[in-house]
Amino acid sequence: MRFLILSDIHANEPALQAVLADAAGRYDRVLCCGDLVGYGADPNPVVEWARTSVQAVVRGNHDKACTGNTDELEWFNPTARSAALWTMDSLTDENREYLFCLPKGPLSLPGFQLLHGSPVDEDEYVVSTWDAAPLAGYIDAPLAFFGHTHLQGGFAFHRNAVRRLARPSSHEAELVLALETEAQYLLNPGSVGQPRDGDPRAGYCIFDQDAHAVALRRIPYDVEEAQRRIIAVGLPEGLAQRLGTGR
Ligand code: ZN
Repeated sequence: MRFLILSDIHANEPALQAVLADAAGRYDRVLCCGDLVGYGADPNPVVEWARTSVQAVVRGNHDKACTGNTDELEWFNPTARSAALWTMDSLTDENREYLFCLPKGPLSLPGFQLLHGSPVDEDEYVVSTWDAAPLAGYIDAPLAFFGHTHLQGGFAFHRNAVRRLARPSSHEAELVLALETEAQYLLNPGSVGQPRDGDPRAGYCIFDQDAHAVALRRIPYDVEEAQRRIIAVGLPEGLAQRLGTGR
């Protein structure tokens, strides 16, 4: 079985469409590590795609915040908060309901898990090996996919050591990771709709379970179109600008 694994799409439909076109024919099922919406201008098309095409999604903090969970908004900076309020207003009732009902991770699937932030806290950012080191014991599978940081790559645990995994460099489209059976992995497919690792290309991965391999991919998309839509609906301009730099 081959899985297309996406995370942090953030209502960026041009990025999502580019990823789907790039991945076409290479996967059997689609999974998502959360944050379908928030920041971008197309929450309804992205949620409608998820409702019909995605087999499993765990909720992200933005998915929670856009469904009326106002406690969540207290933790958001002013830009994220105004985007969350705009998204809440813009979603159709059916799409809001879908987001409201998304399960909290970790979600266990045969042989691996999906989660948003960390295995112990869906809102926690796992950025460094220091953050990751204490988490190995909380992953109930050889492999877990996570999001939230918008940083492609992740971590491998082997005996008592944890190491950071590479991602494709800015001139590569793909980096294939061969999974070692004696190691455990916390893997971030990258952010489709708002990368923050300095590479503005959309990030995603394909997990080939039978081949024990994960292909981390980066693909260009129409950033200017996503920026135009953000400005057109009146979302904060900074949300458009950051898509150009991938920061
Ligand atoms: Zn996110």
